[in-house]
Amino acid sequence: MELRYAKTGILMIEILPDKCDFCGCCVGVCPEDAIELKEAEISIIDERCTNCAKCVWSCPIEVIVFNRDGVTVK
Ligand code: SF4
Ligand code: SF4
Repeated sequence: MELRYAKTGILMIEILPDKCDFCGCCVGVCPEDAIELKEAEISIIDERCTNCAKCVWSCPIEVIVFNRDGVTVK
């Protein structure tokens, strides 16, 4: 899976590849409607994400991770 970048320009949220069971919990908590879930595919819509990390806390199997260091978008 390719890395996803938030609109702030800093990558803070990552969905671990091949771990998601597509339960949809994270989709419901995202205040920006920034998580797209289609059958067996999930992605974060970069332009909408604000790095709030609510999705991280909502995932029951901890496959969304909060990267505190972040990665600056070039
Ligand atoms: S960090 Fe916040 S805005 Fe970004 S996808 Fe998760 S819940 Fe949505
Ligand atoms: S809450 Fe976790 S397991 Fe459920 S769809 Fe989101 S990333 Fe996948």
